[in-house]
Amino acid sequence: MDNLYQKLKDNLTPSQTGVIDYEGEHSRYQINNNKGSKILIKNIHFLFTCDEAEKLQAHQNYSIAIKDGTIIEAGVADTIKSENFDIIYDAGKRGGTVVTPGFINTHAHPPMYLMRSAMMLDEGEGIDETIAAMPSWERAMTDEDFTISAIGDLSEQQKYGITATLSHYNCFYPIEYAATLTKQNLINAISVVSNAHPENSPELIKQLLPEIKKAHSKLAIALHYPHKATAEILDKVKKLIEDNNLLFTCHFAESEQVAQTCVENHGLRETALLEKYGLLNKNTILSHAIHVNDEEIKKLIKNKVGISHLPTSNTIHKSGVFPFWKFYDNGGREFITLGTDGVVSKSRLDLLTESYQTRITHLYDRTVKFGSLFKMMTVNAARVLNMPDRGRIIKGQKADLVFWKLRDRGTIPYDESNPMTILGNIITHGGRVVRDLMINGQFVIKNRRHQLIDETKLLSELQEHHMKMRERVVKQK
Ligand SMILES: [Zn+2]
Repeated sequence: MDNLYQKLKDNLTPSQTGVIDYEGEHSRYQINNNKGSKILIKNIHFLFTCDEAEKLQAHQNYSIAIKDGTIIEAGVADTIKSENFDIIYDAGKRGGTVVTPGFINTHAHPPMYLMRSAMMLDEGEGIDETIAAMPSWERAMTDEDFTISAIGDLSEQQKYGITATLSHYNCFYPIEYAATLTKQNLINAISVVSNAHPENSPELIKQLLPEIKKAHSKLAIALHYPHKATAEILDKVKKLIEDNNLLFTCHFAESEQVAQTCVENHGLRETALLEKYGLLNKNTILSHAIHVNDEEIKKLIKNKVGISHLPTSNTIHKSGVFPFWKFYDNGGREFITLGTDGVVSKSRLDLLTESYQTRITHLYDRTVKFGSLFKMMTVNAARVLNMPDRGRIIKGQKADLVFWKLRDRGTIPYDESNPMTILGNIITHGGRVVRDLMINGQFVIKNRRHQLIDETKLLSELQEHHMKMRERVVKQK
């Protein structure tokens, strides 16, 4: 591993415990063996998942058996015997539980977490002004800042039920470190053109390639904006993606000005530019995708390009409205997913409020059904991020599970004869903190407490780092 990774590891801060504690009093957990490789979850009141055919199901009185991080059985209770398990989790206790697959976030910037409150956006700034203000903050951040930011960001996402994230940024190791520590499933997309990191290039990706076999996160390639890359870089990106089967992501058609700059630099609009360089295919995930015409939309759908819809970010920055129904009605519905973006664009890092935001943003044409929103957070996202073993609670899938309290504000009351009313309630009520969270068969959050970091210490560290960053920004001026 790189020297930087080692340095980050050597400088563990007090918040970083990195150990799951299965000891202690937990009324729902029966611990037979602390290794916890074989786990039974029983007495689940309600479980929502898409099945093998991607049809949404609402199961009742359900159990899940897990071995070495994979679901080996899932079915109605009593079909699985409670024998030989290291841990038995009784989801029926204390008011009961609603279980969903871990949500998958297709667009985030974890190293920017320290920038919460950096831009108040109180003067009506739009996206182009925000983009212009960003570099002075990013220049003021150190590798340690990026790391603690990413730990803060990923652990907050986990508290809102997100178990897999596509990170779009320009440094690999701080994010790799945070992903290892929090056990988050992570795609680490590194920008090959960066003002803050001028050393970033396709060559850097080549250097990282041998490292990724040992890494926790999965390497991918990002471009902050396609127009920033030269023809030579775009050619190299294409070759790297093809040779190594990497994912590619970029901010795309986010504002008219960005679209215009692309025409000035390359003589082409963004869709045509990506097409020219062989980057319109199922390995590509485009965030925003607002300023696209009908012909471009058809081309994106035909080429099975993934879309990360960011309704809150788009609204906050006055970027425009994603043409949701044009994608949805023309064969693109399976490729629409949701992202949180960074805290500069959405203070709350959860996907349930993005779902609700999607519903109300596009309501004037037609209503986006709860089932469609659920798929955007689960199976659609698994598809575009090439994670075929995640996003569902069925045999053979990785055990990424969210346990929501049933007897909770916003969930109750519901119609007992129609469990879908619970899903509607949960989405409409917006973000909430999970009761327990499992990633790859390990309880990362138990009883609302993060098991791998000391959140009280983390929050103090974040505040301290944030104020030091502010001092450095002032000094630059
Ligand atoms: Zn973004």
